[in-house]
Amino acid sequence: MSKKEKIIVVGGGLAGSLFAVCLAKKGFDVDVYERRPDMRKDDVDGGRSINLALSTRGLHALSKIGLDQEILKQAIPMNGRMMHSIDGELTYQPYGKDGQYINSVSRAGLNRRLLELADENENVDLHFNHRCDDCDLEKNEVYFTDENGQAKTVKADYIIATDGAFSAIRLRMQKTNRFDFSQDYQDYGYKELEITPEEGGAFKMEKNALHIWPRGNYMMIALPNPDGSYTCTLFMPFEGENSFGSLKTDEQIMEFLAHNFADSIPLMPNVLEDYKANPVGSLVTVRCNPWVRGNFALMGDSAHAVVPFYGQGMNCAFEDAAVLDDLIGKHYPNWELIFSEYEKERIHNANAIADLAIKNFKEMRDLVGQEDFLEKKRIEHELCELYPEHYKSQYELVTFSTEDYSYAQAMGDVNDGIIETIKEKGLANRLSDKDAILPILQSAKR
Ligand SMILES: Cc1cc2nc3c(=O)[nH]c(=O)nc-3n(C[C@H](O)[C@H](O)[C@H](O)COP(=O)(O)OP(=O)(O)OC[C@H]3O[C@@H](n4cnc5c(N)ncnc54)[C@H](O)[C@@H]3O)c2cc1C
Repeated sequence: MSKKEKIIVVGGGLAGSLFAVCLAKKGFDVDVYERRPDMRKDDVDGGRSINLALSTRGLHALSKIGLDQEILKQAIPMNGRMMHSIDGELTYQPYGKDGQYINSVSRAGLNRRLLELADENENVDLHFNHRCDDCDLEKNEVYFTDENGQAKTVKADYIIATDGAFSAIRLRMQKTNRFDFSQDYQDYGYKELEITPEEGGAFKMEKNALHIWPRGNYMMIALPNPDGSYTCTLFMPFEGENSFGSLKTDEQIMEFLAHNFADSIPLMPNVLEDYKANPVGSLVTVRCNPWVRGNFALMGDSAHAVVPFYGQGMNCAFEDAAVLDDLIGKHYPNWELIFSEYEKERIHNANAIADLAIKNFKEMRDLVGQEDFLEKKRIEHELCELYPEHYKSQYELVTFSTEDYSYAQAMGDVNDGIIETIKEKGLANRLSDKDAILPILQSAKR
């Protein structure tokens, strides 16, 4: 192959390993430098299974490297949300139309498979235990410390920074002129817990759903794993009453959990041990502009960390990779154009999903249990089913399409207007009345 520029990918996580495969397929000479040991040999999760919701955008990117069907085979489809009230009452909301679902996948399993695929290419070299410390944006040099503590300087034609939310490359960019950057922490943190399988591996709750225990100021979610367990994530404030900070003794922890998540506690035999052993993670939104400085480009969380409440961080990171890959296909070897189009296409979309993810947090923890919200969701669901050409919910646009996130964001307001009009006109229980509903859908400002 003739395209032989050398490209360094800093960070062999989800976005970095996927993009390394894309670059390899295009014939570039690729070096991936990853801070952690090789996760194919070492257990980097400490034995915990952590899962993620993979949806259309992520699958689209995986299809570019022929991995989508294989990953789907190992995934567990989640067709809707199962809400658990404080009394243990269950309410189910489908995520979309029949046949639309999100997929619970193992983070480590997916990352390992992507690294394996990257490694199968002769033109990819993987370097583990290499921490990027800094770079020189003008000289195209990246500075690492290797596993022996030795400093190492590497030079390349182009550098893609996929080193996550606290990117060392972005830190260097932040010191350049007119680089906009913001980092906002939520007052909330998260802790992973586990619902174990039945003996024999059966699931203790509905398998094909994302479970939510919305409790206003805090909430828990659970995603299924293929071994019959669920990875639960408890979101709570760091400080104040009923917070990670205030629950100190075993009694306080158990009393809080048993009161708020009564139906789940009997399913979690190790809950106290897990609570005490697992760290509290923080939730950060990172935005920046530009994403490109010279021959360096940011991708994934290094460019746009978002809170996890729309299940889109990885999907968005994978979409970055797919978009940049397409642009290389279209404009190569004009890298200036490739990078400028990449920024034009991605920055406004990343900002939109950052906003939507924060909005969805409020929705999940406060609203999913409320009647008017459930009614809105019912109307939406019926409109999506009855008028697929004329109505798409914001969730559908974000999760089951590759339309711009910024378009989905704008359509959320349009949809709210449609539902208000339907309710005002007393049509909420006459949604199949085409003569009444279609004009409302058609006249809505898009
Ligand atoms: C609790 C939680 C739940 C989530 N759930 C979902 C979900 O359901 N769906 C979804 O789409 N997204 C979800 N996300 C978001 C998702 O995890 C991230 O958006 C995604 O991992 C981003 O991929 P990335 O490759 O950009 O970064 P990362 O996956 O963070 O990878 C960065 C890599 O760079 C390496 N690295 C870091 N610093 C250096 C350095 N200095 N030198 C060398 N290497 C370095 C790291 O070791 C890592 O391997 C969730 C996030 C959280 C916190």
